[in-house]
Amino acid sequence: MLIAFSAFAQPLNVVTTVGTIADVTKSVGGECVEVTGLMGPGIDPHLYKASASDVRTLQRTDIIFYSGYNLEGQLGEVLGKLSRQITTVAVSEGAITEEETLRKAGGNATDPHLWMDVSLWARTADVIAQTLTEASPDCQNAMANAEAYKTQLAALHEWIGESIITIPETQRILVTAHDAFFYYSRAYGIDVASVQGVSTQSEASIEDIRSTVATVAERQIPAIFIESSINPRTIEAVLQAVENQEFTTKIGGSLFSDAMGEAGTANGTYIGMLYHNTQTIVEALGGTIAPLPEALQSWAETWNL
Ligand code: ZN
Repeated sequence: MLIAFSAFAQPLNVVTTVGTIADVTKSVGGECVEVTGLMGPGIDPHLYKASASDVRTLQRTDIIFYSGYNLEGQLGEVLGKLSRQITTVAVSEGAITEEETLRKAGGNATDPHLWMDVSLWARTADVIAQTLTEASPDCQNAMANAEAYKTQLAALHEWIGESIITIPETQRILVTAHDAFFYYSRAYGIDVASVQGVSTQSEASIEDIRSTVATVAERQIPAIFIESSINPRTIEAVLQAVENQEFTTKIGGSLFSDAMGEAGTANGTYIGMLYHNTQTIVEALGGTIAPLPEALQSWAETWNL
């Protein structure tokens, strides 16, 4: 009996946690992967718990990519169990050493928001490419795809720095609800003041709000920002309290901190998320974004930007 082998084997099934990992996996894997992202737009990874249907999805996949450094705090146990049967890789732990990470305010725990520094997050492409190459002969392009993608990310990294520096120095401060932007701060030279702690599990206190209001009034910050995956209540409370003090600020826009925008839009890509955030921050705080670099032209054309 003849057995015919198809030239196109089944793509590898990959399940990812946050959208930023799903997008890097698609960019690196191309046609050799079928990616299912567990956490869509607006979802807070710190609080996310696996549903029964998520567990079934995870059990049936070939590979699981998650971030690690305790970003997916509630999934640790489930991922630990699954890792005994399924290739389960913590991409940021695999790409970024503990020494390169920041500590959460007031503690020794690692700040998990590593995608906010594009030069660090770019390295997750290598971890993903390596894993895919080992898992399937159909993924032999993954390494080359990762290199091409990293060229785009290197250009994005430069562009963010060049754009942020145009903000007048006293106004170069990012006020948000939760502490997702410390890596962005370190990489691109903008101060951050967040009302709430690094995880979203604790509510902002009256004292937190009061001290943020004082910073906004003192530095005459023209805009503060809400986040797509965080309840805007905290930032609205700051806005209200600032207005009671003879200084006016405004909501400068909504930033993507822990989740990306809608799938099928530019903001639903990792590059687009950082592009949107930077454009929103720079324009609201009185700067001008730098011209789009050559390496991002094809990305921009894809999304008609
Ligand atoms: Zn967060």
